[in-house]
Formats: sequence, C-alpha cells, structure tokens
Amino acid sequence: MINVLIAEDNAINRELLREVLETRGFAVEEACDGQVALQMIEQSRPDVLLLDIGMPVLDGFAVVRKIRENPRLAGLPVLAVTAYAMQGDREKILSSGFDGYLSKPINTVLLIEELQRLVPEGDGRSTLPNQPQENSAPAPSARAAGAGK
Ligand code: MN
Repeated sequence: MINVLIAEDNAINRELLREVLETRGFAVEEACDGQVALQMIEQSRPDVLLLDIGMPVLDGFAVVRKIRENPRLAGLPVLAVTAYAMQGDREKILSSGFDGYLSKPINTVLLIEELQRLVPEGDGRSTLPNQPQENSAPAPSARAAGAGK
C-alpha cells in the first residue's frame, strides 16, 4: 500500500483527495499547513507527498525547499497541487524541487498516474533513507529502483 501525505489547508479539498485515494487503495494522512506537514513527514514516513502551494505558516515552496535541504528527507517524492495554473508558475514549480505538478481542480486519472510514476513499486515502504530497520528484516535491496527518485 502506498502511503500518501496530503498537505493542504482547505479541509474540503483534503477530504476530496482522501476519498479519491482511499477508494483506490492508498493509505492517506493529512496535514493542514506546511509546518505540520514537515512534522508528519518525520513521524509518518510517507511514500509520497501531495503538497498544496498556497498554505499558511509555510507555503509549498518553503516546504519543498526544506525537504530537499534535509539529507534524511531529500529523496521524498513531492507532487505539487495548486490552483496557480499559469504557465510561468508551472515552470517555477518544476524548477523548485517538485517531482511533478497537478493543477486544481484535480484530474483523478492524472493524480493516480503521477502517484504510480513517483512510487512505482507501491510496496508500502518509505523511500526515505535511514528508516530504522525493524526486527530482523533484511535490507530491502529491491527498493533501489525507487530510492533514487
Ligand atoms: Mn491552499
């Protein structure tokens, strides 16, 4: 199961995304602003982050910058979700550390395609490095293909 963290300040949008994703078998957690999102990434180790650009406290650009600056988090796939549909914003987003971009209203087919592209194996293990090895589980070498993203 792919674990998705939704960082979005609008509760209705969060609920819509949760329903879409849970219906398709994704596990979903929610953060209501950028600061909470960063805390939850550390705690929950999601496989992929859906990150709204326009949020209070820390906006999406600030959040993705902090993720890329942090060696323990830098490998996390981050998909921008934004109402800013102008071409210049798209270019700015894609040059700011995001792995992909979706504009609102969200196209569900594109959303699922992007999540599967960013987390191709979907085996539920976080792509983040230095995840504590639990019990006697061997190192998941099969993750190498997805870990470079
Ligand atoms: Mn917003």
